[in-house]
Amino acid sequence: MSITIHKDQVLKQIGYKSLPEEKVLTLLDEMLELGNKQISPLMKFKKIGCSGEFHPFFHGAALGYFALVSIGPELENQVKAFFDLGKAMEGYILDVVGTVAVKQAGNALWAEIIEDASLRGFKKGFRRAPGCKGVPMPLQKRIIDMLQEPDPGVRVTSSYMLVPRKSFAFLGRFGGKLEGSFSCEGCPQFSTCDLRR
Ligand code: SF4
Repeated sequence: MSITIHKDQVLKQIGYKSLPEEKVLTLLDEMLELGNKQISPLMKFKKIGCSGEFHPFFHGAALGYFALVSIGPELENQVKAFFDLGKAMEGYILDVVGTVAVKQAGNALWAEIIEDASLRGFKKGFRRAPGCKGVPMPLQKRIIDMLQEPDPGVRVTSSYMLVPRKSFAFLGRFGGKLEGSFSCEGCPQFSTCDLRR
């Protein structure tokens, strides 16, 4: 699947409420052209058992998934190169293009998982990621280990960060009732989070 990022998405992610000055728009166009060529999405998911052997998030579910998405290393290598050259504005905007791209890839992957679940008779699903309430970071490693084949694409550091950085792993479940311990209430990312939708 290919991913294309548009100007309005990047402006929204940065927080612009109206169009910025011409100079910024020109730079944004340049970074979008560059970034869109450097996005190479990796999207994987795997159906897993729901006995709770993987994590309590799956307790009571009928269907569970591990999922992994990444836009690859090229864009973030270019971001680093810009910062190394003192081109902070270019580096910042390109980094935001990458953030929007990995979110978009994650939503596209979730749509594929929903489609897979609906073929099995399930409609309403929930997803959460390591770092969400009740989902510890070490689960990143379990997900990555499970999705290594055929091409690892993403690795986990000793502090459970993913490399490339513009990657994220998540869990999905369908059927049954999600326990209150996984509620999003009080989460500081609540208003901007795509995962809970
Ligand atoms: S709002 Fe988003 S980041 Fe926060 S706990 Fe819910 S799913 Fe996780």
